[in-house]
Amino acid sequence: MIPVPQALETVLTETAKSLWFRRQHNDANTSVCSSHQQLLGRISAMDVKAPSPGYPNHNSSIMDGYAVKTSELANAREDYNKMNQEQKGKFTLDFIIAGKVYAGDDNLSDNANHFTAVYVTTGAVVPADYDAVIPIEETGINQQNDGTNKMCIISSKIESVLNSTTPWTWIRTIGLDIPPGTIVLSEGEKILPVHVALLAQVGISLDGVPLKRLPRVGVLSTGNELLASASELSPGTQQPHGKIPDVNRPLLLSQLTTYDNCVPIDLGIASDDDGCENIAHMLEKILWNAEDDEGIDVLITTGGISMGEKDIMEQVFVGGMGGKVHFGRMNMKPGKPTTFITIDRDGTKKLIFALPGNPVSASVCTELLVRPCLDLLHDSVDSETLSPKEEDLFVKRSVNNARVHDEVMATITSDIKLDQGRPEYRRVALQRLPSNDDPHQYTYHATGTGVQRSSRVLSLRGADGLMILPRGGTSGCGYDIAEKGAKFPVLVYSSLSSSSKTCFKDSMHRALWKSNHHHQHNARPGSKLSLGAILCISNERRDEEEFQSIDATLVKSLGGNSSATLVHREICRVPPDANDDTFVQQLSSIVNGPQMEGVNVIFVVVPTNANLIAEDQGSSAIAFRAGLEVSHALRHILIKNANAMALQVRKYAASRDPMAALFENIVGTVRDGSSVLITCSDKGLEGAVGAVKGLLGHLVSFFLI
Ligand code: AMP
Ligand code: MG
Repeated sequence: MIPVPQALETVLTETAKSLWFRRQHNDANTSVCSSHQQLLGRISAMDVKAPSPGYPNHNSSIMDGYAVKTSELANAREDYNKMNQEQKGKFTLDFIIAGKVYAGDDNLSDNANHFTAVYVTTGAVVPADYDAVIPIEETGINQQNDGTNKMCIISSKIESVLNSTTPWTWIRTIGLDIPPGTIVLSEGEKILPVHVALLAQVGISLDGVPLKRLPRVGVLSTGNELLASASELSPGTQQPHGKIPDVNRPLLLSQLTTYDNCVPIDLGIASDDDGCENIAHMLEKILWNAEDDEGIDVLITTGGISMGEKDIMEQVFVGGMGGKVHFGRMNMKPGKPTTFITIDRDGTKKLIFALPGNPVSASVCTELLVRPCLDLLHDSVDSETLSPKEEDLFVKRSVNNARVHDEVMATITSDIKLDQGRPEYRRVALQRLPSNDDPHQYTYHATGTGVQRSSRVLSLRGADGLMILPRGGTSGCGYDIAEKGAKFPVLVYSSLSSSSKTCFKDSMHRALWKSNHHHQHNARPGSKLSLGAILCISNERRDEEEFQSIDATLVKSLGGNSSATLVHREICRVPPDANDDTFVQQLSSIVNGPQMEGVNVIFVVVPTNANLIAEDQGSSAIAFRAGLEVSHALRHILIKNANAMALQVRKYAASRDPMAALFENIVGTVRDGSSVLITCSDKGLEGAVGAVKGLLGHLVSFFLI
């Protein structure tokens, strides 16, 4: 039984290998669409650039008004500025109206009179030689004795018009919005309405955009008890006793449709009594050579994968089709029997998810494993040319950067009884509310969706994500009930898309597993936190008593010896010369060194005790500088920052000792994401540690699953 994040890593690894294979064979992996409905959500296979002259393709008026020549205005301005107030009051500025150009008109040839203006509407071509537009609001019409009209500038506006009408005022010049050569759609970008608009503006037709091919996903239900759903049955057919409607196919086909990253294909129902060979034969045909020659990239089957006498799917794939099982059990509820198989043949790698039969398990496992797999298959962006020897590099990079679910920490709104056997991926509804501690921050509240039985499809209704709850009991996190108000991570359903910025390597989900991994090698009894401490002092002088009191405060603030153990403490000296970068190296080698192996949390404490700092300066000043040095050094050492948590730590510390507010706390992950690092001063230390206590407790529950 493997942890879910490890299963996900395996799936992503095999997915990346199948992509690599395709790259090596230069598979024509693109297609085109001609309607915007079909185009939306697809991934561009190429950078698309705006052709010359860009947009707009003519000098276009931004206002309804009059096009004028700024060179003529310049002369008028010179005269005007020489005038006295009285002369200015009598000054008029008028123009012969040379004609009108409406938006859409071709152009106008000017009679080249002196002081002419051309009436233009918004979007109209500004005639050649004209280089500014005066908005209609600033102008009037003077009827002349000969019955013709002249445009005049309203007297109160003359000064501002003369001074502010510079070349290209109120004109959208050629290529201003989109200069030629602008990439209006990048390779790997998901096509949104804005791209449809941009393509239209620069005159590129939709079917001129090569798109990444959508992976094809087959969905097969298995089980003698299954009947096609009501809509597939002929009218009036009764459901025979003992039969149930096939829910998984319609459920998964529609779930896949919402992902927008594949072509779901209905493979119908296989009966348990069809026999291994027949099912294998049928699947072979579909996987490699559907009549249309396209085959299927990913296969999802449901049912027949647990321990029953009729559970034959593993045999179908392994015995019947020569597949390789990568894992056959996942440490989770629901969905334990989930099995992942690949079949390499004829230069292709087929990815097969044999999911358990209960609809909730099938849906949750599709979400957890199949969705990220399809995202990677569809829109992996790695256009760099790599030599055939660089498969490992390609695979590693693809796995690390694969997009996974967005994650939030959410507070549970009622007690939850934890499963004693496995961690649970519980369906929850999320509500975002202003935080009690700080109304400028939001917190998420998670409410369960009712009884979580894996046959109960109603438990999927209203779910916004999957909350990861640790296994309860003494062999799990040490407690049986997760109490109302506790926080746990939630994998959010909706935003696994180009807007999701969560890469697999940065995900909390992966970090929980990696930590666990380290801890298994370095098992510590019980569900205790193991701590490391680094005391950053500014003086050679050592005060063991002072050090021990800091050690004791750390352990005590985390609940005492039964909850936390300090496994390693080290003193690190901050050099007096700020340019001395040996400090970065020294701190890094302690943080990443073997003695911190398996440590959950590393506290980096900057003591302010006068004994531990240079005598000739004020203690706070020195501690302050040491704090800055530590922050600076950590920029090179932290893998990921948790700024919100750092702020929380600072607030709590300051609530114990106002001086602590001067210290800028840092929280982040180190050691490949497996340990959390927190910096604090000794002022308000209990508060600082108390601020993270709740969260750390939960993290460790997972570490020890
Ligand atoms: P299995 O994994 O085949 O033992 O199935 C586990 C449970 O899920 C059984 O109660 C099945 O009846 C049910 N089940 C299997 N496939 C489906 C399906 N396609 N739709 C609804 N329920 C199913
Ligand atoms: Mg079955």
